[in-house]
Amino acid sequence: ADPLTQADPRIAKALGQELGRQKGQIELIASENIVSRAVMQAQGSVFTNKYAEGYPGKRYYGGCEWADAVESLAIDRLCTLFGARYANVQPHSGAQANTAVMLALVKPGDTVLGMALSAGGHLTHGAKPALSGKWFNAVQYGVREADSRIDYDEVARLAREHRPKLIIAGFSAYPRVIDWARFRAIADEVGALLMVDMAHVAGLVAAGVYPSPVPHAHVTTSTTHKTLRGPRGGVILTNDEEIAKKVNAAVFPGAQGGPLMHVIAAKAVAFGEALQPAFSDYARQVVANAQALGETLLKGGLDLVTGGTDNHLLLVDLRPLGLKGNQTEVALERAGITCNKNGIPFDTEKPTITSGIRVGTAAITTRGMREDDCREVARLILDVMQALRRHPEGDAKVEMLVREQVHALTSRFPIYPNL
Ligand code: PLP
Repeated sequence: ADPLTQADPRIAKALGQELGRQKGQIELIASENIVSRAVMQAQGSVFTNKYAEGYPGKRYYGGCEWADAVESLAIDRLCTLFGARYANVQPHSGAQANTAVMLALVKPGDTVLGMALSAGGHLTHGAKPALSGKWFNAVQYGVREADSRIDYDEVARLAREHRPKLIIAGFSAYPRVIDWARFRAIADEVGALLMVDMAHVAGLVAAGVYPSPVPHAHVTTSTTHKTLRGPRGGVILTNDEEIAKKVNAAVFPGAQGGPLMHVIAAKAVAFGEALQPAFSDYARQVVANAQALGETLLKGGLDLVTGGTDNHLLLVDLRPLGLKGNQTEVALERAGITCNKNGIPFDTEKPTITSGIRVGTAAITTRGMREDDCREVARLILDVMQALRRHPEGDAKVEMLVREQVHALTSRFPIYPNL
């Protein structure tokens, strides 16, 4: 048996089960992806043993020669990928990256203006239960009721009224292009700094299929594990030398201790992959797949928030079928399709129930699925939903039939064949 099975059979078993789950389910969680074996190899490496507080060439520990090599490569590749002058690849996660930027650029009690969670923003953009909402005077903008799009005039009005020090643009659940230049103009008008959190669309930005915020924002943050298809983690980019210095000091020693060198090695591998021409084809396919999935769901009687998508994600409004997000999420999971319940703008249901689900195509596109396959996935989703309308507790027979078709699909697009 392998070392893990010998040493810890219970963990080995869970790991094997998780591998089986990922192989056999259709993954539509918009924030997830499927990394390469190379990324996993770097992450599961001896770099997990290494302390390397500080930055390449300026460490607080000895033995950092190869840690320096890896981190420098990660920084260079990331800067090339996004056309940025400065990068910090040490944030342990997207939330850590955003926290570090706040530590660098604003003080507790300062006013920040970010997108409301209920409109598609992230917890770290000023939501009440998060540090960003507790330690700052967080003002929130939403979307327009008529078309669920960001109302830039409203953002400008709030900015003029509240004079934030920092404006945050970016999202976890917004299916459209954002006018980054407009955000920068609003920030400039009121003397605010602009932070863009491009976590969800970073891979699309890297490939040039979604507008880049990097030339517009004072500072851009991201996760590395969504459309960018790297290990779980965060990064920060800027073109401003002074901001870069403040950000570096805020990440370490401000908010973190030793960097996760194994994760940084895996980030470097993923950035190298994203620099390959094939990654642009991948990103284009992600968007085409999301649009194909959306069109079929629309034809099946569902609504899509904003009517469609410009990126990798769809916010599906379940109200035309009389379904709730929570029941739909669990029914789809029983049928082998994973997604998450998600509030839609102006949702009258509680966050634990919701009137919507969020689906994304980053992971299924990595498996090799194309538009026709996505239409098939949409039809399977519709089958489960129609059955759910007739049997609110779920129709076991339909769910089993769908599960068989999911199995056929995932077998046609295998992942990790040698694992
Ligand atoms: N920012 C955005 C826009 C996100 O969607 C997310 C995660 O979903 C994060 C930040 C947080 O990233 P992490 O979960 O790595 O802390």
